[in-house]
Amino acid sequence: MSSMILEVKNLWAGYSNREVIKGVDFSVNRGEFIGIIGPNGAGKSTLIRALSRVLEPSQGSVSLNGKDLHKMRLSEAALITAVVPQDTLIVFEFLVRDIVSLGRIPHIRKLGKETQEDLDIVEDCLGLTKTKELADRFINELSAGERQRAIIAKALAQEPQLLMLDEPTSHLDISHQTEIFDLIKSLSRDKGLTVIAVLHDLNLASEYCDRLILMSEGKIFRQGRPEQVLDYKTIEAVYKTVVVVGKNPVSGKPSVFPVPEGQRRQ
Ligand code: ADP
Repeated sequence: MSSMILEVKNLWAGYSNREVIKGVDFSVNRGEFIGIIGPNGAGKSTLIRALSRVLEPSQGSVSLNGKDLHKMRLSEAALITAVVPQDTLIVFEFLVRDIVSLGRIPHIRKLGKETQEDLDIVEDCLGLTKTKELADRFINELSAGERQRAIIAKALAQEPQLLMLDEPTSHLDISHQTEIFDLIKSLSRDKGLTVIAVLHDLNLASEYCDRLILMSEGKIFRQGRPEQVLDYKTIEAVYKTVVVVGKNPVSGKPSVFPVPEGQRRQ
């Protein structure tokens, strides 16, 4: 098997005649943890939608394990990729355990029943995401953060090779954020899971990602290791704000600090 899992070539995508993604090229190797960063409206969610077949590209191609993603059967793509979209709204009264079990559907043969292995995987994923105590509650009665963890459990139950997440921890406090990222990072390191995550928080992106893709106005502005992307000139140019970039004294990774207007020197 090639080390490359995803290859995006000259991708254009958007909404009814409005192109948002304008010629994006990148590839992802197995086991990599990629962060997609960039200001609001840069096209990060739209890119995830094009990579998860919610949007059809208007030009260019996405190949997954060497096959054209947009020509694959949905069931085939669902065996390889799982997606955690932004703010999943589930209005129905589903129990958390049932939602997580839905992650097993791509693996269950037509007219088949879930096996003990499926049930065990669901329990493991509830445990890993610390949602076991929520398993018998209705998903629409959880807090946003609890719901986010349940949806991540469902994606893990799919046992994907490639996990895509759109701001997966936006509703989580710092300890739950760290827990989820520690979990995803360990799956990436130990089991070769490939991760593409849209992240708002530049410091989380810096700490956890092997490589960052910085988007601006539908294009890739820069990509590389966190220290190659998170320099103050690049951030100021793309986000149009003043920042100072230091180093996390423990990890050595870049840390981005905002500078309040009253403190800025010309
Ligand atoms: P980001 O995730 O980087 O904040 P998005 O991909 O959400 O950016 O949005 C990029 C652009 O696409 C924005 O101008 C936004 O208004 C537009 N857009 C997003 N979703 C839709 C949609 N469903 N229909 C039309 N335009 C949209």
